[in-house]
Amino acid sequence: MEINEYNIQDYFKQNEIKQDITNALIEDRVEAFFQPIYSTKKKKFTTAEALMRIRQENGTLLPPNLFIPVAESTGLIMPLGERIFEKVCRFLKESNIRELGIEYIEINLSIVQCEQDDLAERLIQIMKQYEIPASWINLEITESATYNSKRKVLKNISKLRDHGIEFSLDDFGKGQSNLMYMVEMPVSIVKLDMDLSKAYFSIPKAKNVVDSVAEMAHGMGLKLVAEGIETKEELDGIIEPGIDYIQGFYFSKPLPEAEFLEFIAEKNA
Ligand code: C2E
Ligand code: CA
Ligand code: CA
Repeated sequence: MEINEYNIQDYFKQNEIKQDITNALIEDRVEAFFQPIYSTKKKKFTTAEALMRIRQENGTLLPPNLFIPVAESTGLIMPLGERIFEKVCRFLKESNIRELGIEYIEINLSIVQCEQDDLAERLIQIMKQYEIPASWINLEITESATYNSKRKVLKNISKLRDHGIEFSLDDFGKGQSNLMYMVEMPVSIVKLDMDLSKAYFSIPKAKNVVDSVAEMAHGMGLKLVAEGIETKEELDGIIEPGIDYIQGFYFSKPLPEAEFLEFIAEKNA
């Protein structure tokens, strides 16, 4: 690659973010925010997705789209991923969120984490430490590219499933999603990407895709989540094709722990 001003700047920016991540880990400034997920069947919030944030020294939040790619390319995603997992376990143990109707929390796993031989053992160890039953956690995974990596990923998934943890296939319909992935991956939930949810309302053909995916998923005994629902119109429109869960800014943005507890206590009352 040619060294020019652009990639020198890029290099310094990457290093800066890498340093931010390292410091946040040391100073315990990695936070889990929670986005409530609505069950169309039970008509209340039964789950939530944990989303990672880094609290900077000046109090502002670093968004994951900025630091996750750097964390993945530097290996820092491993301690970061474990930290968020631990935070969620602690929250499940210490709060009354389950009494408020939340059945489980969804936690994102990076494919880089899934390729580590000891991932399953490490996560199970954390759950034991916090005495968290497997049914309280659901892990979100995305497509993995190469065959080699897929074998390792499947091995980890299989160990975690043997322990009782269920999985979601995240970002379905984003980019070049492979339909076979829905068939091959041992998941119990498929999450329709926001792009697909949005297309559903603007491109007539996309409606057929979502309706067919819903039919296929239900035929396989899978549940469907629509992501990125932002308006009342979208909500009313998307409930029809047999969507089981809805997540989006219409209900709530990802919230810090205390606000999330308040939100669920009020809405599920
Ligand atoms: P994701 O897993 O697809 O998470 C959903 C993202 O969509 C979140 O962005 C959420 O705030 C956003 N979102 C939800 N509803 C709406 C909506 O109605 N409208 C719009 N415009 N956006 C909505 P966030 O929190 O910025 O996270 C971005 C991505 O960063 C995540 O996408 C995920 O890929 C990654 N990420 C976040 N937390 C973690 C983590 O703990 N571990 C790993 N490996 N990746 C994470
Ligand atoms: Ca996700
Ligand atoms: Ca997603």
